Formats: sequence, C-alpha cells, structure tokens
Amino acid sequence: MRSRVIAGNWKMNKTPAETREFLESVKERISRADARVFVFPPLICIPEAVEVLKDTDVCVGAQNFYYEEKGAFTGEVSADMLICAGAKAVIIGHSERRDIFGESDELINLKLKKAVEKGLIPILCCGESLEIREAGTAAAHIERQIKSAFDGISAKDAAKCIVAYEPIWAIGTGKTATSDQAQEICACVRETLKSIYGGSVSDVIPVLYGGSMNAGNAAELVACEDIDGGLIGSASLKEEFADIVNV
Ligand code: PEP
Repeated sequence: MRSRVIAGNWKMNKTPAETREFLESVKERISRADARVFVFPPLICIPEAVEVLKDTDVCVGAQNFYYEEKGAFTGEVSADMLICAGAKAVIIGHSERRDIFGESDELINLKLKKAVEKGLIPILCCGESLEIREAGTAAAHIERQIKSAFDGISAKDAAKCIVAYEPIWAIGTGKTATSDQAQEICACVRETLKSIYGGSVSDVIPVLYGGSMNAGNAAELVACEDIDGGLIGSASLKEEFADIVNV
C-alpha cells in the first residue's frame, strides 16, 4: 500500500510571524487527515513551523539545499543544517530551480543522493514544458528526467523517495492537467521506476501531481490509479490547503 501525500510548497511567501499565524489556523485540520502531510516554508520559517506543528505528524521540509557538506558556497545551506533547523524533507528539482536558477540534471542527481544519505525525505520533481508537450515527447522527457535523477541510487534508498509530476505549463497558471493527462504521465513515472528497480519498489513510491491543484480539482486527480497525492503551490498558502488535505 502506498501512502497518500499532500505537500504544500510555499515558495518565497510568508514571514515567520505569518507562518505561525497560518499554521495555528490550519493545524487541527491538516493533522487529523488520513494522509502524510508536508509543509515547505521558506528556510528561515522552518524553526517556527516545526515549533507550531511539534505535537502533530505534519512534516516540515525545506524547498532547497546544496549537496556539499560545508565550505565556500555563498548563500547555500547543507543537509545537516536543514536537519538542525528541524527539517525532515526536501524538495529537489522543482522546475523553478531548474529554469530560474539553472539547476542541471547532474546537480539534481547529486542532491537526491545526498538527501537520502542524510535521511531527508526527498520530493523529486519532474515535468515537461508546453513546447515538449506539444511536440508529443512529454513521456520520453519524464523518463529521461527520472532515470537521470535516480542514477546510482539503491533500491532501498529509492523506496524512501517521493516523486512529483509537475507539468511546467500548469504551475502557477491556473491551467491544470486533465486527470487523463496527469494519470498518463504519473503512470509513466511509475513504469520508469519499475524498469530501474522492479515492481516491489515502484509500487511503494508515492507519485504526486502538481500544477494548479486546488480544493475543486483535487478529488478527481487523486482518484487516478497512479496519483497518490499532490504537491500544492498557491493553494497551500490559504485555508484551502486544509480542504485539499481532507479530500
Ligand atoms: C508548485 O510550484 O509546486 C505548484 C504546484 O504550484 P501551483 O500549485 O501554484 O501551480
């Protein structure tokens, strides 16, 4: 049985005070759901989020980190630093990191390896641009991203990961993939994982959909066979997040 996962990626939104206020308001509803719930606030809000959620099973994670242990990497934080701040999970390979900050497939692979080595739960993101979708090569693109991200990762470590399929054209645009489109690519993610690790591993890795998921479309998306939950951006900043968790 795969677990259901709902994760909120706050991106560069909310101060520590706003983090406290928001989490206090949704804490009860997001912690009594029959799903693994994650919140990914901005880095400096992690301790605040951990403190507010300390008596719950809600997991606090980071949106990014650097794979080196320490050293001259101005502006970066290591996995150990995240762990010290109370983070238990990390988002890796989000399309905004790939596109705006130029993160390569090689870097994403190094980060995934380091996250599993350190015991952080990774949510590995993949997704195609509109151009790739229109060219009819979305599935091939996703297969390549998954193979590259998991290169050199053992089956035991892969089984601890979560994958999120996030079509870039659906992120922050209000344009959601149809449930058929999302199911097709989430099934492709699972098939690719199966080709690398076999069914016993691919069957336990939660595959999420992300891209303008909200309280109105979540039920239909998560009802799909290969969609085990959602990675939520804008709707995770509002009370609506608790509605999605309870869907
Ligand atoms: C995201 O950035 O991970 C995301 C899914 O954003 P949104 O829900 O706003 O499309």
